[in-house]
Amino acid sequence: RVLTAREIRKTFLDHFTVNHGHKFVRSSPVVPFCDPTVAFVNAGMNQFKSVFLGTAAAPHKRVVNSQKCVRVGGKHNDLSVVGTDGYHHTFFEMLGNWSFGDYFKREACAMALELLRGPFNIDPGRLYVTYFAGDKVLGIPADLECFEIWRSLGFPASRILPFGCADNFWEMSATGPCGPCTEIHIDHRPDLGSVEQRAKLVNAGRSDLTELWNLVFIQYNRHADGSISQLPAHHVDTGMGFERLTAVLQNKSSNYDTDLFTPIFDGIQQAAKAPVYSGSFPDGGNAAVLDTSYRILADHARMVTACLADGMLPDQNQKLRRVLRKALNISEHVFAHDKLLTQLVPIVVETLGEAYPEMAAKQQAVIDLICHEQEVYKNLRESSSKAFAEVLMEFPNLDDIDLMECPGFVPAYREFQVQRCKFSNNTIPGDFLYKLTDTYGLTEESFLKLAELENMNCDLERYRAEVSLAKIKAKGNQRETAGGSLCDLATEQRLSEAQAMLTKHLGATDNSHK
Ligand code: ATP
Ligand code: MG
Ligand code: MG
Ligand code: MG
Repeated sequence: RVLTAREIRKTFLDHFTVNHGHKFVRSSPVVPFCDPTVAFVNAGMNQFKSVFLGTAAAPHKRVVNSQKCVRVGGKHNDLSVVGTDGYHHTFFEMLGNWSFGDYFKREACAMALELLRGPFNIDPGRLYVTYFAGDKVLGIPADLECFEIWRSLGFPASRILPFGCADNFWEMSATGPCGPCTEIHIDHRPDLGSVEQRAKLVNAGRSDLTELWNLVFIQYNRHADGSISQLPAHHVDTGMGFERLTAVLQNKSSNYDTDLFTPIFDGIQQAAKAPVYSGSFPDGGNAAVLDTSYRILADHARMVTACLADGMLPDQNQKLRRVLRKALNISEHVFAHDKLLTQLVPIVVETLGEAYPEMAAKQQAVIDLICHEQEVYKNLRESSSKAFAEVLMEFPNLDDIDLMECPGFVPAYREFQVQRCKFSNNTIPGDFLYKLTDTYGLTEESFLKLAELENMNCDLERYRAEVSLAKIKAKGNQRETAGGSLCDLATEQRLSEAQAMLTKHLGATDNSHK
């Protein structure tokens, strides 16, 4: 028999409470009361940050929970991919277990594997695991202990894969607790190729081979000078995507085909009398356009319900406002039903309210807040349509752009008109693209639209280099304020590498407009 999402959540929690002595801790709100450095709670560990920092006592040595998470900004920004794939959401639940100075790597891996094989009955032949390959710049060794643990648990070496810092080293911030992690990936289509071929695809961001569970081993402390020492106590912090797990256990290749989303799709379909959701993805022909709207609307309805129920307000949080307005736009323009979003709220509550009773309790308040925001948005559109009409007289080709979605587009376009004579090779230079995002708040999507409108190319490589340079600089500043004036070795090295890359690039292209 196929387990329902509710049963899957409960089985996870029971495995750790009943079988392994963990204490259940409720999800914190998605508003990060516990952590002012992030705009939304984006992982199960956020509420335990002070335990790792040593400033708060652990609620118990072993803890388990399912945490409401939102990833629409900062280090984890999945907003732009939502709808295009079947496994990234703006709002999702993260199932996690923790050891605060109690068990460590071996037990954590064994408990995870035991759950996946036993109660969840997943064929271990479909699983790939990763471990930290080490980093010379940071001076941290490879986590060979982890490799050996997976070997001893029965994994063949060909399915235990090394990865670097980006995927397999976790740091809370510039200084403080950090450590290597191991990820469990699942093959949705083992029929597609040999283990060796499939192994190369782990971490390639493919829907047939997805990351399921991340187990972090917090064993180091990073100091302001960049050096690393062992922490006196070692901790485990894990996170598994609940919607991804549910898809696996319900034999679906997309999270949207599980009972967490299908009731929402049915709700959209019936209220709007729209064609039925057919599960196609971009490149899947005409149906994909409507299906993508279905996915974005269902995703955003969950995100908006979770955030509003937790007391977040659209006028205090621009990201929430953007997601909410996008959901309103899809309701009105794609499904031609301006009450659609509010009608989805009770369905979202029906699918999540048992696990998160605060959502059920706030259902009416959520609906009222959406109606209010819809009113504000409508008035704004009416008053700005006059201003936009004037802009359109000046630049008639902006007619295709949704100026409400991106108000920065108009000033950005004016500046573009002034600077364009300096651009050569019919290409918009990368540093100018960066300026458009940094100064005018354009997204990558909107500057690509601008380029398309003007039949020009974008120097994306240089743009990406500018973005990483800005990030490293910001991190360097953070580090200085956090840890005194001592400069960080790894940051310095990366900064000079990025600068060298830019200089090399500058030699090859024109930079006259800077
Ligand atoms: P990915 O590489 O797929 O983006 P991640 O490495 O960013 O995932 P982690 O930060 O390790 O994710 O989070 C732990 C788990 O949470 C992941 O293994 C995954 O199952 C799940 N997860 C992460 N991001 C999302 C998302 N946007 N929507 C749904 N589940 C997610
Ligand atoms: Mg991610
Ligand atoms: Mg990942
Ligand atoms: Mg991960």
